[in-house]
Amino acid sequence: AKSEGRDTYRFYEHAMGIEARSRRIMEHELRHAVTRNEFHLVYQPQKKLDTGELIGYEALLRWQHPERGNVSPGIFIPVAEESGAIVPIGEWVLKTACQAAVSWKSNLMVAVNVSAIQLHSVNFVQTVHRILLETGLSPHRLEIEITETALVRDMHRALTTLRQLKALGIRVAMDDFGTGYSSLSNLRAFPFDKIKIDGSFIRQVDTNEQAATIVRAVLGIGRGLGLPVLAEGVETSGELSFLAKELCQIGQGYYLGRPSPLDDLHEDDLRTKEK
Ligand code: C2E
Ligand code: CA
Ligand code: CA
Ligand code: CA
Repeated sequence: AKSEGRDTYRFYEHAMGIEARSRRIMEHELRHAVTRNEFHLVYQPQKKLDTGELIGYEALLRWQHPERGNVSPGIFIPVAEESGAIVPIGEWVLKTACQAAVSWKSNLMVAVNVSAIQLHSVNFVQTVHRILLETGLSPHRLEIEITETALVRDMHRALTTLRQLKALGIRVAMDDFGTGYSSLSNLRAFPFDKIKIDGSFIRQVDTNEQAATIVRAVLGIGRGLGLPVLAEGVETSGELSFLAKELCQIGQGYYLGRPSPLDDLHEDDLRTKEK
């Protein structure tokens, strides 16, 4: 059964480029996945690089399909975006992540990914506001991660939405910095609180001079704009020490901690409390 699941998974992977039919099947399944409890979130730590202090977690969505097993978000999120299912799914993510953060003993922050379609959906700001009230999470503990594709869709509307979110006290991070286009002008046009450098720039940053130059430049931009920079995809101690030496403020990646289910976080959480 396992190899069968793997084949279908692969079939889906192809579905990115092909086959309207398998796409329609997945769209249909995604529409019911929330009510069928097939989603859960895992949480990946974000840590200060000078002290190692845990500052919060990024919530990452997981889909456990009854037959196919775990389907990667890289595969199902684009399908959910195209069908509009990402709006109710994203609302579930926000609510679940806020509930989780309220259950933590320390005032760590939680970062949630928000898709373009979701950001531009009707009443998005009201929905976020309602979720904060319902869960009782303090707005300054919520950070929303947005990629540039979310912004270029409708710049004017995106700006209005970001300003309204910030007026609620929510922080906004630019995700995957460097991979989109016109990253620099977007940094200027939008009120971000944090820059997340994409993991592709962090890979071998300690041994590859070109990667190092790019990362140093992004850190310089962050310093100039007064924005903290988070390095994604930190996988080795060499990458970590390079980033710390270059005064990158925050890191995230397998070397600092894998994404894990809510129940497995408590140990980490308590350790911070004790300090
Ligand atoms: P992202 O927002 O850039 O998330 C970081 C991805 O890098 C995650 O993949 C994470 O598991 C992975 N990662 C973390 N540390 C390392 C590392 O050291 N090395 C490597 N190679 N990878 C690392 P994941 O969970 O598969 O998510 C993929 C993408 O799916 C995310 O990229 C995000 O764009 C999207 N996504 C995930 N959850 C959500 C969600 O709730 N809503 C929306 N709209 N998108 C989501
Ligand atoms: Ca993210
Ligand atoms: Ca990212
Ligand atoms: Ca990404």
